[in-house]
Amino acid sequence: MIIKGGNIITADGPRPADVIIEGSTITAVSDPDQVPGGEPVVDATGLWVLPGAIDAHTHFGMPLRSGISSLGWRESSEAALLGGTTTIIDFANPAANEPLPEAVTRWRGMADGVILCDYGLHVTVTDVATERLDEIPALVEQGLATFKGFLAYKGRLMLSLVEMKRLMEAVHRAGAMLLVHAEDGEMNAAAEKVLLDTGRTAVSWHPLAHAEESEEKAVAEILDLATTTGCPLTIVHMSLGRSLELLKKARKIQGRDGVLVGEVCLHHLFADSGLYQAGHRASTAAICSPPLRAAGNGTDLLAGLVAGDLDLLSTDHCEFSLAVKTAAAGGGFPSVPNGCGGVGERMVVSHTLAVATGKMDPARWIEACCRRPAELMGLAGRKGQLAAGFDADVVLFDPAASYRWEPLGSSDRAGSLWAGLPVTGRVRDVWLGGRQVVANGMLTLDQPGGKFLPRRL
Ligand SMILES: [Zn+2]
Repeated sequence: MIIKGGNIITADGPRPADVIIEGSTITAVSDPDQVPGGEPVVDATGLWVLPGAIDAHTHFGMPLRSGISSLGWRESSEAALLGGTTTIIDFANPAANEPLPEAVTRWRGMADGVILCDYGLHVTVTDVATERLDEIPALVEQGLATFKGFLAYKGRLMLSLVEMKRLMEAVHRAGAMLLVHAEDGEMNAAAEKVLLDTGRTAVSWHPLAHAEESEEKAVAEILDLATTTGCPLTIVHMSLGRSLELLKKARKIQGRDGVLVGEVCLHHLFADSGLYQAGHRASTAAICSPPLRAAGNGTDLLAGLVAGDLDLLSTDHCEFSLAVKTAAAGGGFPSVPNGCGGVGERMVVSHTLAVATGKMDPARWIEACCRRPAELMGLAGRKGQLAAGFDADVVLFDPAASYRWEPLGSSDRAGSLWAGLPVTGRVRDVWLGGRQVVANGMLTLDQPGGKFLPRRL
């Protein structure tokens, strides 16, 4: 099959090229009309031909303490494909005392045969007993290349700095990378207690339980630990301009030897804490951690993403129906499950607000959403680029389409931060491993075809 007449995105801008696919693989990307006829042709005239996008940070089908679960693997992966994302990396979250390999098997059991896009798993570690840490090397062998630790969520997921150091040493020894949620769990717990003790339980108080100082403190501490241990580190969902400054400084100190990755999520780039004001349509929907911040942070973070000081544009997609979040809000803001959708929105919303506005060039956009997530998360050579030998994950994108955003698939419209936003750009067609899964904006697959992806750094 040949995708003909479209423009691929290069460092010099869009360039006409044909993409040739055989079976599940891209076999060539060539100048127009270099290819002999006879093959089935897809006409991509006027469209951009993009690599299937990769979202390195999602939570599909997340069970919570309360038994509430986010929109599941099927629904979230529908939104992913419709939004041009063909690969996600989710999390295997162990229960208390559960061996990590069992947690991986259990989470794969939820996804396999249900998920529509390809996926990998980061492995969350909340217990640094020797027994648990000794399980890490075998997991790395099996393609679990990345682990996750929390400095936030006291009493549930939080590791102390001493425990985090142990985890970083173990992850580093195994040749893997650690992802860290950098907020100070003690500070957040103390702030939350003061708010609750004084009856300030409305949703609008949520950001006050996650002070900027809490993130700054945790970011500074985890960067110090990464420098001390040498462990490759990704700081996930950085939400403050000041966190970015700390990352830049640490990168300078570590120099070329270090691996310090900064991730920013769609909602921290383009939404702000104004949404928490009482009466706003999305005030409850916007409950997430770290919270939405004052607007200037988004500007700083976008500048950091454009400059490459932040590497990855992800979503932290963890979508609940607005009805579930609103019902929970009756118990006060701490009862509301944390998380926003975004996997379906990332490409179109970031194209609208960063690329179409001229703030980010298309090449950097594709790098942050496709190539770098693949390279940094252990999928180099297989995902994230249009090149011979790569999986035939291909998106046809119309950069000129203009309309009002409606959430994709079975996403809850009222729960989307982006519902009604005037957008520029539309995902028209998507192939996953050479199989067309979206045609003219509609899902075309009948069988779940998402594969688990072993990853190696
Ligand atoms: Zn997350």
